[in-house]
Parts: sequence; structure tokens; C-alpha cells
Amino acid sequence: MGHVTLVGAGPGDPGLLTVKGRQAILNADVVVYDRLVGPEILALMPSKAECIDVGKKSNHHPVPQWRINEILLEKAREGKRVVRLKGGDCFLFGRGGEELELLVENGIDFDVVPGVTSALAVPAYAGIPVTHRDFTSSVHIITGHAKAGSELDIDFDALVRHKGTLVFLMSVSSTPMILHRLMQAGMSADMPAAMIERGTLPGQRKVVATVGTLVQEMQKAGIESPAILIVGSVCALSDGFDWYDKLPLHGVTVAVTRPKQRAGTLTERLRRLGADVISYPCIETETIWPNMPVVEALASMEQYHWLVLTSPAGVDVLVQLLNAADMDMRSLAHMKVAVIGAGTAKKLKEHGLRADYIPAVYDSVHLAEGLIRLVQEGERVLMLRAEIGTPELPELLAQACVSFDDVPVYRTLYHSERREEMAAMLADGSIDYITFTSASTVHGFVESLPEGTNMTGFTALCIGPSTEKAAKAAGMHTITAANATIDAMLMTLQEEYHK
Ligand code: SAH
Repeated sequence: MGHVTLVGAGPGDPGLLTVKGRQAILNADVVVYDRLVGPEILALMPSKAECIDVGKKSNHHPVPQWRINEILLEKAREGKRVVRLKGGDCFLFGRGGEELELLVENGIDFDVVPGVTSALAVPAYAGIPVTHRDFTSSVHIITGHAKAGSELDIDFDALVRHKGTLVFLMSVSSTPMILHRLMQAGMSADMPAAMIERGTLPGQRKVVATVGTLVQEMQKAGIESPAILIVGSVCALSDGFDWYDKLPLHGVTVAVTRPKQRAGTLTERLRRLGADVISYPCIETETIWPNMPVVEALASMEQYHWLVLTSPAGVDVLVQLLNAADMDMRSLAHMKVAVIGAGTAKKLKEHGLRADYIPAVYDSVHLAEGLIRLVQEGERVLMLRAEIGTPELPELLAQACVSFDDVPVYRTLYHSERREEMAAMLADGSIDYITFTSASTVHGFVESLPEGTNMTGFTALCIGPSTEKAAKAAGMHTITAANATIDAMLMTLQEEYHK
């Protein structure tokens, strides 16, 4: 028998998905999702999972509720682990309760992972604390949605009497009526009020005014759904407590092209700086196996004096190969290790090894120059690299008569599940910057897209000179970090954006 997990996906910022919600998505066989769930959360879905969009408007009608209930039941009966993913929290105006009824009737196992609701998170991202001891001691969450043809079923007198903060969801079209009825019930026209559109998302917009002036102001700004209406004196704090709109990269859209397993830090740091980050993994590394040259090299490690690694992926593959050969890092004890840069050195450290040499400038030419200086007569170098590695390194070593073996241990595969989305975003110019952390990510990016895709509508943020060269060759505008680190990339981006 299958199982259904109701998951609240949070209000939009992918960082506001809960740890438990994320785990449920990663384990799902089927994910049934709504319109309000953001693309970055949908991108988490395992590629093997079946994804059913029930928010899509075919003929302007979303999939009816009874049919959603049936889909959940059918999939659970097939023995699947089903995740029902909803915007915000699943029980707050989310019809979560209705979806459980049929499951209960049919004895299907289920559990519920609450989500961060937009009713609280959206005000927070707009600098509005929904309660504050100097202003108000209660908060009321109300739907502004009226059944077609009927009046809002809200006791406005009671709301005004309670003096709490009022948060109205689904209220864009009913805001004029709500504010009018509040004033009729005795609320002052000077009471602060705010409307926040697409809260917690990079496109967040807010309008802060008063109950008397908000309608005019929101119409001027052209506010559309999804948005929430907040009424109460706490709205006056919004300017002073504003933080999200002030983040240094607020309003910038950046695509990150690193392979999935390495994108974490860069993506997170960009998001913390306020950027809208589109993750676009377009390269993957695959260990070359079976691989006779590497088996031979590992079997005669004593002939080598230097080990050279030119990427974090190379370190991972080395560990994998040692494991497969029933060996471990101790087999390298007699060798010195040279790496291309800080990222590779860091990866090496994770496995308990310190790099003996890192060039001052993180590229193959400087690595070659260093090796030429350091490798003594009679010593031999083992390089474990990508199948198609940069030619400069072996060429320069050969010219200097350094003896080495250049063994390819992994290959790079170029593809992306999000290619159509990316092609559409490039076509409408919605991406400002794309990060590239190696020449191969540039190739991967170009290869993953349809031929003839225009590469001039964004700026390529490159980690170093050889990446920049590849990006320029692909026709891109480029900016390049002062040194090959993520810190320097982020610095360059901020400087460029605030120019
Ligand atoms: N269960 C959801 C609410 C569903 S009702 C939750 O807990 O958040 C849908 C309404 O939520 C929208 O009409 C809008 O009023 C509000 N909403 C959801 N996400 C929002 C966002 N990112 N910004 C502003 N309002 C949002």
C-alpha cells in the first residue's frame, strides 16, 4: 500500500521549504503540485518521479478538487509514495483537509508536513512584524475570497473591535470592498495598510499606504495576484524594518551552471545576497571505468613522486578509484600533491590530505610553471584529469622535459533537464548573469541548448581566464573574478551590478 504526504512548500523562497518537506520530495515516486509552488522547489524533484501539475489551467479551469482527491487515492493504491505539494502551509486555505477525507475513507496511510505560510512570511520579508507589543497583541488571518456572486462572509465590526493586525489572503480583487467595509465599521482612514505582491520572491513588490489611500496606490502600482493585504499599525514599521529589498543583489537574476552536487554553496550565497537564482546544472562527471591505464598507475604508485589534480571532481574520482582498488590515501604517502586551485585543495582536505603546491594564480599555465620549478630530475608526475583536459598543462611539461603520465579518469557529460525553460528565459531576456566555474561548464551550457541560441543577452560571470576565454569564444559578454574563488566571483558581481 502506498502513502501520501501533504507538504507545505512555503511561500516561494526555496530556502523556506522545511527540511522534512525537502526530504519527502526527494523520496517521492509521484509529486502532485499546485500553481503557487516555485520552479526552484520543483527542480528538486527526483528525475525518476512522476510530476503531476494540477494547478495548470487547461481551458482556464484548474483540475477540480474531486479529481485531485482521486489522483492521490489512485497513485497511493498503486503502492506509490505520493507527495502532495502545496504553496505555503497545507491547511491554511489550502484545502488540505478536503484532500485527506477520501484517503481516510479508504484507509490510506498519510502524514502532514506543515509549511511556512505566506500569511506570516510575506509580511516578515516586507519588514512588517505581524504583532508587536507596542502596537497590537493579535493577528487575524482571513480569506478575501468570496464565493461567486455572494458577499464576503466577514464580521467587520468584530475585526475592528479586536484591534489586531489583519492579514487577508486571496484579496487582490476584493481589497476595495474590504477597506470600505473596515472604514464603515469604524476603522480610521489613517490606519496603515500594505499590499505585498510575490512576497519572499525576487520579484517582491510592496505598497505601503493607509486604509483610505491603499486602493489608489495599489492600482497605480498595478499589483496583481498572488498578493496579501495587511491592515494594522504595524505596517508603519515596514520602511524602518525593510531588509529584503535592500539586499545587495535584490532584483538580479543569476543562473548557476555548476553540476548539481557542487552548486550548493554558490547558489546559497547568491540567494543570501538577494539574487534570484536559477539552478541550471548542465554538466555531470562520469568516472571512466573500466580504465586500464589507471589500474596500472595505481598498481605501481611507487614510480610516481607527484600527483596532480585539476578539479574537485578529480579528487572525488581519485577516492572512488582507490576504493575500487581496495586501497586508500596511505598509498599516496610517498607523493607530493599539486592542485590547480583553492577549490580542489579544499576538496582534498575533506579527505584528510593537504596540498603541497597550489599556484598563486589558479590556472593550468601557472600550475605547469610551478611543477617545472619543483619536480626534480628523475622524478615522475601522475596527472589524473578529465578526458578532454586543457592541453597547456601536458604541453608545457613536455617542453620542459618533465616526465609524466596524463591519465584521463573522468569524462564530462553535457545535458540539462531544464533546457527548454532556460532557452525560453534567454529568449525573453530574463537572465542577467550566468556563472561559469570552468571552461567545461561553458561548453556544457552551450551544448545543452538548441543550436543558434543567442548568447549575448546576459553577462557571463567567469571564475578565471580560461573560463573567460571559452565564454568569449561562445560569443558571450564576460566579467571575470580577480582570483579564481567563489568569494571573488561574488565580489565582482556586486561591483559590476552597483556600477
Ligand atoms: N496555503 C497558502 C495560502 C493559499 S491561498 C499559505 O499558507 O500561504 C493563496 C493566497 O496566498 C494567494 O492568493 C495570496 O494571497 C497568498 N500568497 C501565497 N503565496 C504568496 C506570495 N508569495 N506572496 C504574496 N501572497 C501569497
